[in-house]
Amino acid sequence: MDYDVVVVGAGPAGLATAIRLKQQAAERGSDISVVLVEKGSEVGAHILSGAVIDPVGLDALVPGWREEADAPLSVQVTDDAFYLLGPAGGVKLPNFAMPPLMNNHGNYVGSLGNVCRFLAQ
Ligand SMILES: Cc1cc2nc3c(=O)[nH]c(=O)nc-3n(C[C@H](O)[C@H](O)[C@H](O)COP(=O)(O)OP(=O)(O)OC[C@H]3O[C@@H](n4cnc5c(N)ncnc54)[C@H](O)[C@@H]3O)c2cc1C
Repeated sequence: MDYDVVVVGAGPAGLATAIRLKQQAAERGSDISVVLVEKGSEVGAHILSGAVIDPVGLDALVPGWREEADAPLSVQVTDDAFYLLGPAGGVKLPNFAMPPLMNNHGNYVGSLGNVCRFLAQ
């Protein structure tokens, strides 16, 4: 079988590549055939992460994803707490001392496997 593009691996990167290629072709008023080859038994089966997910990529790729009935992310981060753990217990660290990338506000807690299953649809 011949395809215009073969993407190996249906992780977030491969799925986004396939979707974006199809979107760009549609924007040009044309179509291309794209196939995704995945070694897992289904899309998402080999995605390891239970994750805190920044939705910025999903927003760019599928702008209306939050309104979809099967939206893969629904639990938003509302609070960050950081502890230094030791044998005697934990010491809470002040949030202002943490680097900006540790601020998870606007992010979602969810399964990256489910995000991949959603993108595959
Ligand atoms: C333990 C862990 C925790 C993480 N936690 C977070 C987190 O909290 N937040 C966050 O944003 N990120 C997290 N990540 C990172 C996130 O999982 C990766 O950045 C992301 O999955 C990378 O996507 P990818 O598409 O590049 O690769 P992958 O997700 O690795 O997808 C690759 C896909 O290709 C398939 N594949 C590989 N080789 C072949 C082959 N030869 N033929 C066919 N298919 C193949 C695999 O089965 C897989 O489905 C975590 C990662 C790990 C491991």
